[in-house]
Amino acid sequence: MRIDVLTAFPKILQDPLDESILKQARSRIGLEIHLRDIRDYATDKHRTIDDTPYGGGPGMVFKPEPLFDALEAIFRQTGDRTDARVIFPSPQGRLFSQEIAQEFAEIPHLVFICGHYKGIDQRVIDTWVSDELSIGDYVLSGGEIPALLMIDGIVRLIPGAINDLASAQTDSFQDGLLDCPYYTRPESYRGMAVPEVLLSGHHQKIAEWRLAQRIEHTRIKRPDLYQQFLEKEKEQLKKKSDAKQKK
Ligand code: SAH
Repeated sequence: MRIDVLTAFPKILQDPLDESILKQARSRIGLEIHLRDIRDYATDKHRTIDDTPYGGGPGMVFKPEPLFDALEAIFRQTGDRTDARVIFPSPQGRLFSQEIAQEFAEIPHLVFICGHYKGIDQRVIDTWVSDELSIGDYVLSGGEIPALLMIDGIVRLIPGAINDLASAQTDSFQDGLLDCPYYTRPESYRGMAVPEVLLSGHHQKIAEWRLAQRIEHTRIKRPDLYQQFLEKEKEQLKKKSDAKQKK
């Protein structure tokens, strides 16, 4: 898998990519992450990459030429665009989610275009962008942190990226529920005991307790997810009873 990030501020991304799971993933699964400084594709001697918006108003806009040139350079290198998705992090996009992270973990080549200031020339979006993705209904100053956030969410789901994929697959949202609480040693800390069942060694009972906790936490913390969960359960019950009746 390969990820290219077009940014005017590569330093914002460099350190986080060199730590922890993202660093591990790069060596474990041979994930290549290329940070490309948009300024390297500027054509004038001042390395200009932005300009004032047509029609007036405050703020600056990224010019189309450096971004077109950078994107063309990337796809000249890979020789193919069919396996790639070009993502523009933007507050106007679809909301990034665990489902989207899972989908993108299976795509061999991702390209992120990080905007700044007012954003990027619309012609770049119209020509190149396959996915406009938002990280929530608020505005940040640049696309670097959103891109980093998405890269982290996606990469940890690639088989081999972390020690134990099963661990990522039992996290919140994977199956519509939040995760259960966790405890580690010591057994009793400042008068607070670890729930008995977790010390029992009884796998079935532990699994039941965890599922019950996940359902209860989801009901309290995320009633919206809980409703969806109930509806799914109802559907499954109905399917089962329909299948029985056919027999
Ligand atoms: N004028 C734009 C916002 C520009 S913010 C608008 O209102 O839609 C500058 C850049 O930060 C954007 O181009 C985008 O890349 C990034 N950005 C800001 N908020 C974001 C969010 N919620 N999700 C994803 N990217 C965001």
